[in-house]
Amino acid sequence: MSPVTAPSSPAEGAALPPAGLYVHLPFCVARCPYCDFTVYAGTFARGPKARTERLYEAVNRELELRADALDERFGRRPPLRSLYFGGGTPSLVSAEWFERLMTTVRRRFGLEPGAEVTLEANPGSDERGDLSSFAAAGVNRVSFGAQSLTAAELRRLGRRHSPADVAAAVAEARAAGVASINVDLLYDLPEQTVTGWEDTLRAALALRPDHLSLYALTLDDPDAEGLTGEAGDHLPTTPGVRRWREAARLGQDDDRAADQYRLATELLAADGWRGYEISNWAQPGHESRHNLTYWERRPYEAVGPGAHAFDGRIRRWNAADLARYIDALLPVEGRAALPPGGSEAISVATAAAERAILALRLDRGVGAVWAAESAASEAFIWARQAGLVEDFDLEGEARVRLTLRGRLLSNELFQRLL
Ligand code: SF4
Repeated sequence: MSPVTAPSSPAEGAALPPAGLYVHLPFCVARCPYCDFTVYAGTFARGPKARTERLYEAVNRELELRADALDERFGRRPPLRSLYFGGGTPSLVSAEWFERLMTTVRRRFGLEPGAEVTLEANPGSDERGDLSSFAAAGVNRVSFGAQSLTAAELRRLGRRHSPADVAAAVAEARAAGVASINVDLLYDLPEQTVTGWEDTLRAALALRPDHLSLYALTLDDPDAEGLTGEAGDHLPTTPGVRRWREAARLGQDDDRAADQYRLATELLAADGWRGYEISNWAQPGHESRHNLTYWERRPYEAVGPGAHAFDGRIRRWNAADLARYIDALLPVEGRAALPPGGSEAISVATAAAERAILALRLDRGVGAVWAAESAASEAFIWARQAGLVEDFDLEGEARVRLTLRGRLLSNELFQRLL
C-alpha cells in the first residue's frame, strides 16, 4: 500500500531543540540474562577496577559538548520539560556525582519549573542508592525495576532483590518525598502462570505506586539483528546468555501472555487506573512526561553509551562501547570529541508512519478524519472490520483508538501502516 501521511504534525521534517534529555548511566551490580540494555556489570561497576568515575566524568563532558552543539544550531532554547536518568542502574551513582550531573544539566540545558526528573533504581538495599539525596538534588520521579513480586520468579530471572526489597524501596522513596513512583513489571516470564501474574499485580497495587509499566518479556538476539557492530548501540551477547534465552523461550506462551495482558487491563481498570499507553498505566496526573515525549514524537537529546536522540528529523545514537566512549570524551591528549555512533535521517513517509503508530499506542488514538481520509484509510477499514479499532469521542473530537483486541494484535495493524 502507499505510504501514509502524518495525522497531525507541527514538527514534521523540521529539526527542533529537545523537549527532554535522556542520560544513560550503564552500570549494574550484576547483569540479568534477559537484558539487552547497554550495561557494564561486575568489576566495571564496583571495586578497584571500576570505571564509574571515568564514565561519569565523560558523561559530564558529553553534556557540555551536546549543549554547545545545540547552542550553535538553535541559539536560545526553551528549558527541558523532562530529564530521565536510565540505565543500567543509575541509582548506583554517588550523591556527589549525581549532584554534579544535575548542576551541569541545569546550567547548560535548563529545567522548566515543575520539570519531571526521573531516576531509574533497582529495589535492592545495595542498589537503590541514597533516595533522600537524589530527591534533594531534584528527582521527583523514581522508576523501580521490580519486574516481579514473586520470589521464585525473581530468582529465575537472575534478579538480586526480593519482593520485600520492592516494598522497602517504595516506602523509602515516599519517605524521601518523591512525588511520583513507577513500578516496572514483566509478564510472559518462563513458566509463569496467570495466577502468579495476578499475585504480582495485586502485590504491586498494595504498594500504591502512581504509575505501572507492564511489558512482556522479550528475548531477542541483538547479534542476529546486526545491532552489535563497531557503531552498534547494543553489546554482543555471550554464549551463556544465548543459551539462557533459548531455554527461557521454551517457557513462554503467546496465548498465556494475552490472558495475562487481559487480566491486567481488567484489574487495573477496576482499581481506577488509566491505561494511557499500550504498556503503561497511571493514576491521574502521573503519566510519564518523558515517555510521552517519545510517543508524541517530540525531539529529545541523549548522552551516555548506547543512548539514542532524535531532533524531529534525524535519529542519532552513541555506540555502546564503554572504552571508546570514554576515550573520545576524555582523551589523553588533544581535545575532547563527541563519542562514536551513528545516525539515520527519517524519511517523510517513515516519519508519518511512526507518528501514526506511536499515536495509536496511546489511548487518545488518532483523529477519525485522518484515519478515514489519509493513505492509511485502507488499513483502518481492515482494522475496524477485524475489531482492532473503535471510534470514540474525545472532548468533542471524533477519534479512533485500539480496542483491547487491537492492543493485543497491534503489530498486525502497525505493519500495514509502515
Ligand atoms: S538490573 Fe536492569 S539494567 Fe541491569 S542488567 Fe538487570 S535488567 Fe539490565
